[in-house]
Amino acid sequence: MTTDKDCIFCKIVAGEIPSAKVYEDGEMVVFKDIHPLTKIHLLAVPKEHFAALSEMDEKREALVGRMLGKIGALAPSFGLSEGYRVVANQGISAGQTVPHLHFHLLGGETLGWEK
Ligand code: AMP
Ligand code: ZN
Repeated sequence: MTTDKDCIFCKIVAGEIPSAKVYEDGEMVVFKDIHPLTKIHLLAVPKEHFAALSEMDEKREALVGRMLGKIGALAPSFGLSEGYRVVANQGISAGQTVPHLHFHLLGGETLGWEK
């Protein structure tokens, strides 16, 4: 599995830096965002390192499909049973700051819709 020794999310996956993990399995972890934008703000991260949706291949398509399926199944256990938003920032203009694919799970409150 690809990892990057300089990547902050790879370090979280490896347990080298602390995080508030709420779920982990063989291929993904879910942990609390350190700067929450909503009452509940989680990050779902594949254990494999790749930068973003711009680096998909067939294996990663299947991985991301499973990740989204698990997010859908697990959301109530994360306190998101009333609804939530899934966001992936892709690249500079979208404000992506960590180049390791991640899905933001935003909820715990009524969400507005701004660009
Ligand atoms: P993005 O801007 O889409 O790349 O999102 C990166 C997210 O990672 C931001 O919401 C940060 O607050 C979050 N973040 C950065 N470092 C950590 C960390 N050590 N633990 C938890 N969340 C982090
Ligand atoms: Zn990484």
